[in-house]
Amino acid sequence: MDMHCPFCQNEDTKVVDTRINDDGHSIRRRRECPVCGKRFTTVETTMLLVKKRSGNVEPFDRAKVISGVRKACQGRPIDEDELKLLGQKVEEDLRSRGLAQIKSEEIGKAILEPLRELDEVAYLRFASVYQNFEGLADFQAAIDRLKGGEGGPDVANPSSRGAGDTPQTQTGNTQTGNAQTGNSV
Ligand SMILES: [Zn+2]
Repeated sequence: MDMHCPFCQNEDTKVVDTRINDDGHSIRRRRECPVCGKRFTTVETTMLLVKKRSGNVEPFDRAKVISGVRKACQGRPIDEDELKLLGQKVEEDLRSRGLAQIKSEEIGKAILEPLRELDEVAYLRFASVYQNFEGLADFQAAIDRLKGGEGGPDVANPSSRGAGDTPQTQTGNTQTGNAQTGNSV
């Protein structure tokens, strides 16, 4: 999408923030020009299109995202507001890529991360459907990733300040593999 700088006409600008209005159709972006460094706001009303596996293209529908996630959340302590917020995050994530059309798989992918932060059980359910888990091994791998905190929420980690004799690194790498590293100190 070209959105050139109104100050210096440079064609390449960077999106620094994206907000969607409640109607779900207009997007307000803060952009920054890498040449002159000025910032400006654009309001776009483009519709986000989704290309399905079948090849059909349809407008992005946040309500569908929410209803898909709601199924995975059954019986979990998650309320409607949290679902709505998740739907909004997903849409913002997708729209912030600045593309007019995305693949339907991208939606599933965009749901995973915020859902993981919301509820790990719902995340596993959703991932098992979305990623076609075939058996326990797939669940195990997903659980291992959860435990490993891969890209996990930023823990306020008050380390690196004379933490005494217990340097608590966050790498829980206890892999039951065949990697027997001889620990020569
Ligand atoms: Zn500029």
